[in-house]
Amino acid sequence: MALQNQASRVIVVGAGIGGLTVALGLAKNGFQVRIFEQASSLSEVGAGLQLSPNAVKVLRQFGIAGAVSNHIFSPKYACIRDYQSGRYYLKSPLGKSVEQRYGAPYWHIHRADLHKELVQACYTAGVEIELDHRVLGYRNEKKHVTVLLDKKTEHVDLVIGADGIHSKVRELMLGVQAPIFTGQVAWRGTVPAAAIKGAEIQPNATVWAGPNKHLVTYYLRGGELVNFIAVEERSKWQQESWRQEGDVNELRRKFIGWHPEVSAVLEACDTTFLWALNGRPSLSKWHDERVVLLGDACHPMLPFMAQGAAMAIEDAYVLTQALLKYPYAQAFEKYEDLRKPRATAIQKQSRDNTGLYHMHGGWQGRMKLQALGLASKYASGIIHAKLDSIYGYDVTTLPI
Ligand SMILES: Cc1cc2nc3c(=O)[nH]c(=O)nc-3n(C[C@H](O)[C@H](O)[C@H](O)COP(=O)(O)OP(=O)(O)OC[C@H]3O[C@@H](n4cnc5c(N)ncnc54)[C@H](O)[C@@H]3O)c2cc1C
Repeated sequence: MALQNQASRVIVVGAGIGGLTVALGLAKNGFQVRIFEQASSLSEVGAGLQLSPNAVKVLRQFGIAGAVSNHIFSPKYACIRDYQSGRYYLKSPLGKSVEQRYGAPYWHIHRADLHKELVQACYTAGVEIELDHRVLGYRNEKKHVTVLLDKKTEHVDLVIGADGIHSKVRELMLGVQAPIFTGQVAWRGTVPAAAIKGAEIQPNATVWAGPNKHLVTYYLRGGELVNFIAVEERSKWQQESWRQEGDVNELRRKFIGWHPEVSAVLEACDTTFLWALNGRPSLSKWHDERVVLLGDACHPMLPFMAQGAAMAIEDAYVLTQALLKYPYAQAFEKYEDLRKPRATAIQKQSRDNTGLYHMHGGWQGRMKLQALGLASKYASGIIHAKLDSIYGYDVTTLPI
């Protein structure tokens, strides 16, 4: 497609999954793209990611689904199980049946593997990535935007702020506003499957639901690793940093008495990191003249629908297509109009899942889970209706 836009020189701020995906989409379509990343090396956290069909469709369009598929694990079921008895509240098929229903697979992938493939594809498409460069400011001018970095100043046509939940670009656009601590922390880690003794981990994406806590387990790298995310409610987060090394023994103590599959994973774990889970209210705007936001920078969400990265990937597709079709000001309007309602709805669904996974309301919480189980058995349409709107959404066929 020919560029409808004289604005073809783009700076992307941040080489996370969102920044790399939009850089790839734009570079493949004739834009001249540079990424500025504050970190001094290209890497991702040692944790897993669930990639749902809606995200995989974009990876296909951008030509990297094949390379990514070499690293994945294909889960058989999505389950919600009781933290003690292991009883299944929900067991919904993934694997082939998801692919048939939604036209793309559901994958588990190590974040570092996805990141590595995106970086490689970006280089191949001609994207320049400059590390150890922190963006400090921007100024919209008549014919360009000036970007202030810690070591230099650049002039380009457009800037995409894909700089995550603590986004500097967002702050410059909308003012200082600290993200809101949601009262939840997540412990994350991966464990070699061969090191797990005394229980067989099922090849599923499993949410272990318990009072005020939940834990998710799933395989990565063809079954070589087991990934876990353990979420607990806390009233405060006292550390400066939003991420810190966690104490494995403390983590094990928090989940004493949980099902043997959970205990076996935590017993085999020797390092873990702890994240404060933050949110932001919906932003009043996502763009400011020649500057636009993408991914967690504009719509961070709790990970309880496993959709944060998927939303950044969908954003990347829509923004690329809009910039191909329209002059940038109109393209940014289109992009926000199309993306904001979807991202906001999924932010809300992710928040709502906290109550369900954490059995809020005592016996009523358990009843809700039991009702979900019955619905999935006898009225699967209810479950499908919820998931169809997320996994069945095909951003690549949207009229933009
Ligand atoms: C526990 C947990 C589990 C999750 N599980 C899933 C899942 O299964 N599936 C899913 O889809 N999503 C999941 N998510 C959400 C997902 O991780 C995020 O939504 C996604 O990584 C956001 O990507 P991003 O590119 O927008 O931001 P980020 O990944 O935060 O990247 C931002 C980048 O910008 C750089 N940067 C920041 N400021 C500057 C600056 N001033 N100058 C230059 N560079 C800068 C940063 O160093 C970073 O590299 C999970 C999140 C958590 C916390």
